[in-house]
Amino acid sequence: METIIQDILSALRAGSAPDAAWLARRLRRCPRSSDGGAAGKLELLAFYRAAKEETGPLWKSWAIAPEEDRAILRLLKLKPRRSASGVATITVVTMPHPCSGSCIYCPNDIRMPKSYLSNEPACQRAERNCFDPYLQVRARLALLESNGHVTDKIELIVLGGTWSDYPLPYQLWFMTELFRALDDDDVAAEQRRAERTAFYRDCGILSEPEELASQAQPLQELVDAGACTYNGAIGTLYSSDSWERARSIQQASFEELEAAQRANEHARRRVVGLCVETRPDLVDDGSATLMRRLGCTKVQMGIQSLDQAILDRCGRNNTVERIARAFACLRINGFKIVAHMMANLPGATPQGDKDDYLRLVTDPRFQPDEIKLYPCVLIASSALMRLQGRDAWQPYTEEELIDVLAADVAATPAYVRISRMIRDFSSGDIVAGNKKTNLRQMVDAAGGDAEVLEIRQREIATGDLSPDELRLSSVIYGTSVSQERFLQWMGPDGTIAGFLRLSLPKDGATAMIREVHVYGRVAELGGSEEGGAQHIGLGRSLIESACSQAHAAGFSAIRVISSVGTRPYYRRLGFADEELYQIRSLQAEGEQ
Ligand code: SF4
Repeated sequence: METIIQDILSALRAGSAPDAAWLARRLRRCPRSSDGGAAGKLELLAFYRAAKEETGPLWKSWAIAPEEDRAILRLLKLKPRRSASGVATITVVTMPHPCSGSCIYCPNDIRMPKSYLSNEPACQRAERNCFDPYLQVRARLALLESNGHVTDKIELIVLGGTWSDYPLPYQLWFMTELFRALDDDDVAAEQRRAERTAFYRDCGILSEPEELASQAQPLQELVDAGACTYNGAIGTLYSSDSWERARSIQQASFEELEAAQRANEHARRRVVGLCVETRPDLVDDGSATLMRRLGCTKVQMGIQSLDQAILDRCGRNNTVERIARAFACLRINGFKIVAHMMANLPGATPQGDKDDYLRLVTDPRFQPDEIKLYPCVLIASSALMRLQGRDAWQPYTEEELIDVLAADVAATPAYVRISRMIRDFSSGDIVAGNKKTNLRQMVDAAGGDAEVLEIRQREIATGDLSPDELRLSSVIYGTSVSQERFLQWMGPDGTIAGFLRLSLPKDGATAMIREVHVYGRVAELGGSEEGGAQHIGLGRSLIESACSQAHAAGFSAIRVISSVGTRPYYRRLGFADEELYQIRSLQAEGEQ
């Protein structure tokens, strides 16, 4: 191990940049890591971190400079993709809570918020931490950092049924705790973590999966048999004295939330994005304003289908018209919009699914920024399971499914990212439907050499940038409420190094920057100019270009839906704080 670290250092000091392939070759020559795979890398990372923490003679003998330390940790990271998009992502899960929907394909695992299963990775972490947001964030941070990830910029993704169904005091507490977990220094955090864990133990809250499974089993069996609803079962399961006592701390005020947000503006780990998920029928100006006050920048909406007959057959209790209104509301309020769509729902056909997807990405009433495209699968606890045998649903063949998804990818415009194609369900939970975890690769392969515009396939991940080769281009498209401009820094081969979403509302009100994203390795906030695309000015040039374009289009001011941790950055660029956004006058734009 020591020799490998010395070899990495020698390579760095000789001016070369050892990459993953170099490391794999070097590990293969090491007798303790003969496969050169993740285990060898994991060992090496653990060895390096232990030497660093001990700061003994070995560490001193290496005389590692801070930039060499960063380069080594970057090289030893286990999952480069996790922070390759420019930020480290932390997913947290809310408490199980009644959902106002009744969708027949939706899992009813009463240990989890509606639609999630207790053996999904983020759900396991949530349950082990009593669904406490503070504990979940600290557990995830510890793992990311022990794997060598930089955690200065964090995107928080809040999962769990329908966010807007939760009571306001719980929403305030949950968000306050998320920010607090990133604001606290490591000593304070360890103390708070220990106190909080002891509190839940005192309350009698279980956290071991086997105990939780056996506690839930009798009620789960009733739910699976259709003798009890999910909402009824969790009402029973979580109204115990233990949970009543635990809930006594689950409230906060706007003042507490705002104090935690202000602290995060200058914290070591800053929130650069915050996402919740909800249903279109719960989106209106009131809920959008509340989500903004909570610090949200992105909203995931369950759309699933734009075919009213399919929505009705699935028990979605929603209308296409209501979905369109939700898109318009979120867009006008500046949010990035993530749509969940499902293929192969009850009543769907392959051609109908292709047409439906095309409507989603081209009809001006919809046009999300990001899509999670999930094929329907049969889960034992869902209502659909009990309808099986009555011709309620048949899974597509693998060929049919891949054909539908490949057509969807091909139809996706340059300003849309398909973030996912499967849920994190284990194959043991899937009674029927796709179980292939590499479905996306199969879909990509089926697309052959056809040009793909979709963002995820074009984004620069861990590759080196050549800024001189980049050019700035704009894609312009119209929605029911705005003209949208997607500004992108592109390489000659169509790769994308950064982008910005600019909304120019039709009513002539203030222009809005809905998203700025620059790819590259996560560079430390306020760090050097080296280390990736984040610090070579791509973001700033996108913002200046958006300001110029908005001014040329006749707008006198532009807002940005900044995240709490990016407020100082926008202040430096001339944006002033408002209650919900930051704003910059464009009056003098032409004189600059
Ligand atoms: S609204 Fe969402 S969480 Fe609720 S039942 Fe429908 S799919 Fe499940």
